[in-house]
Amino acid sequence: MNLVEEAITAHWGEKCDDYEQGCPVCDAWREYENLVAYGETLKKSFTEVPKDTQFVAPISLTKAQKPTLSEWMAWLKQGEK
Ligand SMILES: [Zn+2]
Repeated sequence: MNLVEEAITAHWGEKCDDYEQGCPVCDAWREYENLVAYGETLKKSFTEVPKDTQFVAPISLTKAQKPTLSEWMAWLKQGEK
């Protein structure tokens, strides 16, 4: 379990076995998983560049601001009602 997962578990609790709509715990974990999936996509955009071509950063990456962990956690908490 990484630090973020620990923080989510501490704040919302263990991930539920099944996703349930409207459940804040499920939503928090889903947001996190979406973010992880997005990170994997970004990683691929770096690693899957053929050697002899010029690397061009995806537009979303050049525009994206890297959030700090606390900013990101605050963003996650917006889903909490
Ligand atoms: Zn749930």
